[in-house]
Amino acid sequence: MDGLEKEVQYLKGVGPGRKVCLNRMGIYTLLDLFWHVPRTYIDRSNLTPLHDMEIDQMAQIQGRVTQTRTSTSRRGMNIFSAVVDTGEGFLTAVWFNQPYMNTILKIDQDIYVSGKIKPGVRGPEMHVYEYDILSANNTECNLTPVYNLTEGISQKTMRQLISYILEKHRADYPEILDDILLEKYGLCSMENALKNMHFPQNQQSFFQARRRMAFEELLLFQLGFRLEEDSKQVNAVIHEEKNELVKQVTDNLPFKLTAAQQKVLHHIYTDMESPRVMNRLLQGDVGSGKTIIAVLAMVKAVASGFQAAIMAPTEILAQQHYKSLQNILAATDIQIGLLTGSTGIKERDNLFTAIASGDINIVIGTHALFQNQVIFNHLGLVVIDEQHRFGVRQRSELVCKGENPDVLVMTATPIPRTLALTIYGNLQVSIIDEMPPGRRNIKTRFLDYKFKNDAYRFVGSQVEQGLQAYVVCPLIEESEKQDLQAAASLYDELRTSVFPDKAVGLIHGRLKPAEKEAVMREFIAGQIQILVSTTVIEVGIDVANASVMVIEQAERFGISQLHQLRGRVGRGNHQSYCILLAEPKTDEARKRLQAVEQTNDGFELARIDMLIRGPGDFWGVRQHGLDQLKIASLIEDYEIIEQAQECAAANKWPMEKIKPYFEARFNHRTDYLRN
Ligand code: ADP
Ligand code: MG
Repeated sequence: MDGLEKEVQYLKGVGPGRKVCLNRMGIYTLLDLFWHVPRTYIDRSNLTPLHDMEIDQMAQIQGRVTQTRTSTSRRGMNIFSAVVDTGEGFLTAVWFNQPYMNTILKIDQDIYVSGKIKPGVRGPEMHVYEYDILSANNTECNLTPVYNLTEGISQKTMRQLISYILEKHRADYPEILDDILLEKYGLCSMENALKNMHFPQNQQSFFQARRRMAFEELLLFQLGFRLEEDSKQVNAVIHEEKNELVKQVTDNLPFKLTAAQQKVLHHIYTDMESPRVMNRLLQGDVGSGKTIIAVLAMVKAVASGFQAAIMAPTEILAQQHYKSLQNILAATDIQIGLLTGSTGIKERDNLFTAIASGDINIVIGTHALFQNQVIFNHLGLVVIDEQHRFGVRQRSELVCKGENPDVLVMTATPIPRTLALTIYGNLQVSIIDEMPPGRRNIKTRFLDYKFKNDAYRFVGSQVEQGLQAYVVCPLIEESEKQDLQAAASLYDELRTSVFPDKAVGLIHGRLKPAEKEAVMREFIAGQIQILVSTTVIEVGIDVANASVMVIEQAERFGISQLHQLRGRVGRGNHQSYCILLAEPKTDEARKRLQAVEQTNDGFELARIDMLIRGPGDFWGVRQHGLDQLKIASLIEDYEIIEQAQECAAANKWPMEKIKPYFEARFNHRTDYLRN
């Protein structure tokens, strides 16, 4: 850190006056200045010829100022204009409400301006977005940085200051990654990154620099949590490194784990074997195969002498997990129990006893697991499926039933709250970013209601081929009763007039668990061909023979809900389809439907969702102090977040050296770390 903590006022050309200006922008030290990255760049390799200009299009020109003029519009707006001679002709550039421009731009200066072409009194003129005064020393590079400024600091001064520190102090910048890590994550050195962030040779070098600096700040951020945690070491359960039982189960699977599944399993096992409490979020798109990962984590816990529990948000899903665990673990001695709201009293009491004695190794359940009577013998791992359905408090209620058990939460939706937790460090993230082989994209169509008959004709043709269908009707939030009525009347319509010769079934949230189970069993057996459903089928259901889904009034659903629903089809080898019947009334609703139509990628959809809703809306980034991140975007750099976390966790760090760096980078700002 030598030298970088030096205050800016000691820099050549700063002094007490400019120091105040820089401080106003949060720039106190040389390190802060290095991280004062350009707002944008001017690309002078791409000038627009005067004869190619079109009204309302962006253009950029370069030339000499031949006249300047200040005037006032009828509405009292200050207008500054400059006539620029580009060599092939003249163009008037106009600045609104920037009266100080007349002290900045002078006749005979060479300038660059970019902006939108608009009709003016004397022909086309340019409404300026960016400008730059050219000098002999900023012509070497095509991309010129444009910085955020404050009164008293000009673009030219800022560039000079940064050039100066780049030249004199760049070599003092601490490099915390060794060559092996640089190579592993495909990163350039910090020294290079700083140079190319401020003065990129070309776009490519800018992207490289940006990636490194985003990684750097996210890594430091993560290491900051480590600094905090080290002071309050917790002793979690330690799962053993012996994995014979795991191998036995894995070898018996009807498929091979994908590379992505192997990667996340490795993260999880590393956590489980360490004395640190695991708090890991496993994200994987719908159908990416999270269940088997949960099973293998639980098998490891059992092999180490612990009990494991998995909690599902719905009874149907818990049932389904129970069955697949029975299958997968059939050849082992592992004892499995299922506890839900509809477990009979006698059976329930037996379960309580067996859980308390440790005779049952793995417990699958719903909210029923929270009951006080559920006392574990030696709970070492808690898995929460579809985390977004649970509150944070519920998770900790289950965790309390063990002594610092490891925790794995799983979700298909990178919802804002989990993302927030991620960045706050109490959750590590692993992503399954690959689908099991043989999956095809679900062909999705958004159709107006006038094509409703065509939609159902298509459903009919799929069913004729021996495949099955879901028809989803929306939840009417205001009224559960109306909701039921809507489902019931759709069911009647389909059963009596649309598909009189097909087996149509109905499932909804008001059915008793045993009734739901009966319907699901018939659907799985193929006795029901078309299943009308409310959103109870949203999560987890796995029926490979279902190839088409119609979602009624799709405009009422959010993007992630539509994506979850759609994930119920496309689970086998058949080409699958999803039809969104909708009458969107707002532009936003239309955009949501189009997004779901256009991509099958859940992460991409989450990103679009956040963009449509706007980042301010989704979790008040500013209030959370995340503007500490100068480069990384929590929306776009999700993969870098994951890599930085992995890098932070998997390596030894010289914390005495990291500490001053962390504090200098995030100085006078540690408050945001403690919520
Ligand atoms: P989700 O991530 O949505 O919970 P599941 O765990 O239900 O997905 O898995 C979806 C389907 O993919 C299941 O039928 C599962 O058996 C299957 N599956 C999981 N992993 C693989 C794999 N590596 N190869 C082939 N099929 C797999
Ligand atoms: Mg699942």
